[in-house]
Amino acid sequence: MLKTEALNVFYDEVQALIDVSVHVHDREILAVIGSNGAGKTTLLKTISGLTRPRDGRILWQGEPIEQEPTDRICQRGIVQVPEGRRLFPQMTVFENLEMGAYLPGPHEKAHDTIQHVYQLFPVLKQRSKQMAGTLSGGEQQMLAIARALMAHPKLLMLDEPSLGLSPKAASEIYTVLQHLHLKGMTILLVSQDVLQALKIADRAYAMENGRIVLEGSGADLLRDPAVKEAYLGL
Ligand code: ATP
Repeated sequence: MLKTEALNVFYDEVQALIDVSVHVHDREILAVIGSNGAGKTTLLKTISGLTRPRDGRILWQGEPIEQEPTDRICQRGIVQVPEGRRLFPQMTVFENLEMGAYLPGPHEKAHDTIQHVYQLFPVLKQRSKQMAGTLSGGEQQMLAIARALMAHPKLLMLDEPSLGLSPKAASEIYTVLQHLHLKGMTILLVSQDVLQALKIADRAYAMENGRIVLEGSGADLLRDPAVKEAYLGL
């Protein structure tokens, strides 16, 4: 579905991605794990078109997209839930959801999509008139995911969805992701919560200092001694 080929990304002279080649299959959960500064966020931002590679290619269903504008990439169905959620705190839950459907296709279907999203997240329906900034952390993360769903993603990319949440709220978010996966959504998940991410991932990559250093099934990486030592403290 999505493939990156030898991506090299720089911030001035700092190289954040070095020859990064990854692929995402249709309907899988792919996790990218790694510690702070490994390059995970940069990978997502480069796929979304927010950061441009110096060289390398990004193929979406076989077509190159690395030079496309971000709105066109989003229109293709690649939708990112950013780190820190980036909600509009002074707007209601409902208004935040509407903002997720600003592109023409999703806009026309917004009324039906919102009902679907409310079924998935009943708490958002209960709080539809509440300001987003007054929700709990877990509810805000649900709203960020729900807002992305309003855009009808084919590939949902999530950057650290459980960061800063209580264990209970984090576990609810991972349950939602598994539910979306069962319904056929393709998910690219970037996380420092290595244990949870690998538990739900079909496949995973580990990144270090801008490079992919390991690749395997979620279960394989969970058993890998290097992963256990570096990320799980075992
Ligand atoms: P984290 O989980 O802490 O965000 P990460 O794995 O997502 O880490 P990135 O945020 O992609 O890593 O950062 C990769 C490297 O690029 C780091 O060395 C970081 O300092 C650098 N970097 C990231 N964003 C910028 C920027 N806007 N300007 C300069 N350097 C940056």
